[in-house]
Amino acid sequence: MITNTKDIQAVDSAHYMHPFTDHKSLAAKGARIITKADGIYIWDSEGNKILDAMSGLWCVNVGYGRQELVDAATKQMQELPYYNSFFQTTNVPAVKLAERIVGLAGENYSHVFFSSSGSESNDTNIRMVRHYWNTLGQPERTVIISRNNAYHGSTMAGASLGGMSGMHAQGGLPIPGIVHIEQPYHYGIAPTKDKDAFGIEAAGWLEQKILEVGADKVAAFIGEPVQGAGGVIIPPKTYWPEIQRICDKYGILLICDEVICGFGRTGTWFGSELQGAKPDLMTFAKGVTSGYLPLGGVVIGKRVADVLINQGGEFNHGYTYSGHPVACAVALANIDIIESEGLVEKVKNETGPYLAKKFAELSNHPLVGGAETCGLMAGFALMKDKVNHVAFDESVEVGMICRNHCFANGLIMRAVGDRMIIAPPLVITMAQIDEMAGLILFCLDATLKELEMRGLMNDDLLKLNAA
Ligand SMILES: *Cc1c(COP(=O)(O)O)cnc(C)c1O
Repeated sequence: MITNTKDIQAVDSAHYMHPFTDHKSLAAKGARIITKADGIYIWDSEGNKILDAMSGLWCVNVGYGRQELVDAATKQMQELPYYNSFFQTTNVPAVKLAERIVGLAGENYSHVFFSSSGSESNDTNIRMVRHYWNTLGQPERTVIISRNNAYHGSTMAGASLGGMSGMHAQGGLPIPGIVHIEQPYHYGIAPTKDKDAFGIEAAGWLEQKILEVGADKVAAFIGEPVQGAGGVIIPPKTYWPEIQRICDKYGILLICDEVICGFGRTGTWFGSELQGAKPDLMTFAKGVTSGYLPLGGVVIGKRVADVLINQGGEFNHGYTYSGHPVACAVALANIDIIESEGLVEKVKNETGPYLAKKFAELSNHPLVGGAETCGLMAGFALMKDKVNHVAFDESVEVGMICRNHCFANGLIMRAVGDRMIIAPPLVITMAQIDEMAGLILFCLDATLKELEMRGLMNDDLLKLNAA
């Protein structure tokens, strides 16, 4: 029987293969065991209370411990725990949720296709856009353009659409028919250029790629309104309207991956709304149920839905759990909470602007460069010399140093290379934002101290170490 932390760690190490984990180093340390959660906090098996500034994996939008979601799941499980939507059947929570999501997405949309994750939903997108063009008599339109450092999931198609070199390196990805352009990372690529001009230039890389591939071969462009797992890369405000203009010019379908941005994260229901894009398809998952149950899907614009429904015949695609009644019931209760507590407006008018102010203050720290926020997503780069825009040597793994100080001091903050990022639950209060910002500052000071002690702020020593 499992009785204590060490026992669980041993069994974990012996039998549980974790996602995105180096198991040799995990075995040496032992996994941290999360045992309970409430609001914006989680607790580990040693009783440590931790502020979860990442909302789990960007998903717990309404916070932990919401009895409304437990009740919705219980009630639905008692009534109808499962039935599929194949063979001309349906269920009430799926129908209601489809209607509700279309209502939130706006008048350009008419339908929703359900899956159980973001990755599956992006697989659906690929199949759907190719089926769309084939139905319209343009079967050669198959290529999908995505971006470097994008994250679209971890299935063969999701990882291929994504632009993570580490993922592509394992298993011969990307699959054929997917090409990438550079991301619109102003601070990382061209910090001295005018930001708005850079946004137009970065969007122009899409047009270059379209012309290189041949416009008549391109099916769609896919992008996250704000890149999440890539390090919270917030594009210049000129970027998305220009992307939209280019897609329109060549008749290319636009897919916005709203898996993180959707359901209030950016202070609007969907991030594309904020960024000034009108996608034909929107991928969602994560925040739709606040992570309480797995659910994802695609919101389908009228342009695509009309063709698929009136001319497409049977779409030979679907999942056993498409429209799962319990997951859909929880999503409905989750949307009820977001609406009744006014969380989208709160992010837009109160907590989002307050977080922006706190991040502007963090910019005074000697390590912090390019701090930016968008609603309740935020990030900055740890810089060796931010005045002269000098980054740390990769071997320093400065993000990991900072992340470990956060871990040790009761804060979950994620490191992506040299970028430190957060996306706290949308229910976070102003006082809790103060607490979070205080913890971040404390951990930045601890990081700086460690870097100085190890001589890593000093150029000569760094060169010596590298030699
Ligand atoms: C997390 C994520 C996905 C993948 O979702 P899973 O549910 O893990 O399959 C896809 N796109 C974006 C933008 C994500 O952040």
